[in-house]
Amino acid sequence: MRLILISTACLLLAACSSSKPEQVDANAISAQRIAAHMAFLADDLLEGREAATRGHEIAARYMASQFQALGLEPAGEDGSFFQPVPLLQGERLAEGARFELIRNGRIESLAFESEFLPGVNYDQPDFALTAPLVFVGQGVVAPEFDHDDFAGIDVKGKIAVLLNGAPASFANDPRAFYSSGREKMAALVERGAVGAIFVSDPTREKKSPWARGAANWARPGMRLRAPDGAALDTFPQLIATASISADAASKLFTGADMQADAVFAALDAGTLRSFDLPGTVLLAGRARISSKVSRNVVARLPGSDKKLAAQHVVFSAHLDHVGIGAPINGDTIYNGALDNAMGSAVMLDAATRLATADNRPKRSIIFVAVTAEEKGLLGSEYFASHPSVAGPLVANINMDMPVLLTDLGDVTPIGIEHSTLKDAVESAASKLGITLSPDPMPEQVVFIRSDQFSFIRRGVPAIYLKGGTAPTHADVDGKALLDGFLASHYHQPSDDLSLPINYASAARLAALNAAIGRHVADADKPPRWNKNDFFGERFAEH
Ligand SMILES: [Zn+2]
Repeated sequence: MRLILISTACLLLAACSSSKPEQVDANAISAQRIAAHMAFLADDLLEGREAATRGHEIAARYMASQFQALGLEPAGEDGSFFQPVPLLQGERLAEGARFELIRNGRIESLAFESEFLPGVNYDQPDFALTAPLVFVGQGVVAPEFDHDDFAGIDVKGKIAVLLNGAPASFANDPRAFYSSGREKMAALVERGAVGAIFVSDPTREKKSPWARGAANWARPGMRLRAPDGAALDTFPQLIATASISADAASKLFTGADMQADAVFAALDAGTLRSFDLPGTVLLAGRARISSKVSRNVVARLPGSDKKLAAQHVVFSAHLDHVGIGAPINGDTIYNGALDNAMGSAVMLDAATRLATADNRPKRSIIFVAVTAEEKGLLGSEYFASHPSVAGPLVANINMDMPVLLTDLGDVTPIGIEHSTLKDAVESAASKLGITLSPDPMPEQVVFIRSDQFSFIRRGVPAIYLKGGTAPTHADVDGKALLDGFLASHYHQPSDDLSLPINYASAARLAALNAAIGRHVADADKPPRWNKNDFFGERFAEH
């Protein structure tokens, strides 16, 4: 019956040629919708959507209008779609920045930008500190692996010198967790350190050259702002912080037990050890701190089941990107097409599918376009700690930077091994004929690098769907496409609409996200962490 109706429609419109018009049209229209959202969100007019800028506000207004057009309920504050997020902005100043190595009565200075950048101190914006140095490896303490970078050394009253990341010998999850700056700084403060110098390394700089990142030294950082105006989640005991390039490290390690090259070799070999460094360092920096507000955009599809509707399945995607910055090939607008206009557009399309379906999901579904992800997951942290909806958040489905540059038959579900969300993902994927691929680059530790981590830290099981690496055409190398994007376009002005974005793959990803959301929303029980799971043990209430 339905087929006949469609055929009639086709005759009338004289525009249908496929043997399965309904199926083809649904995905083609979805791909069109995603392309349309991205054309708006990644346009130069939005100037890279940096948090607390006009460009981001316009993007937020767009998301709210789209949610409203779908008939979703406003679920922000005061009956609106918006949740204001109070922020402090810190702008690093070049003037007054100093890094001076003092040894045997001689002073050697590192150069601002080309060799070092001071950190922003939100509690004491104008800082200067002279203290002795101690090298603490990667600054990791993991009792469960019998690993302690601080064993046998004293960091009290000293500036700790440390490398990024966590030991490669750890399994992926603990490695991800222990490589976070937050964990490292907490460990330093606990042991009485007063400063920290983060040393880049050659492996990291091969992917992301020091000069490229340092060129954007003037780009503001941010922290959440408490009601009393103070910065949240800072470490005031660490008075002075700085980052230095891998090249500048040779100066720091001169005259020490090990030279920089040997330290980097030990990092690669997993044989790092800690030791005191000769001399002292004078570290000084200044910043301009100002209060800002940027907005999360929150919409709700009310659940159809009276009892379960109080529980919320949260879809999230960050709407902000990094704004305007240092020119690359003459372009200063960092459009953030894949990062994360794509995730935002995929979330809107999943919302469209769920909001227009014949029967509403049993649990309520929240769609939140979060701000300030690029500033340290701040919008999601604020939403997860101050939900603008009453009732528990039972799951998070996050979408961030799916790299969809060819026709893909697979997706990479990050975090699938942690909770019963696995069932939802597998069942939805198999219904849609989508293959699930393992994380092709676990060393990137993405499970803690996007907004799902804000939910995980509050005990909410989460899943994070990335684009896959298995193209439907054998002559395309999916992994090479992903590597190429990360090396040449990620956080650069060229992450824009001139990339060969595959909207059909995006439509399939949206369909999968919607299906996962429905599966979770309709299940008898909310998802739960697996027994003895690394994150569940740490963050869930037992
Ligand atoms: Zn990003």
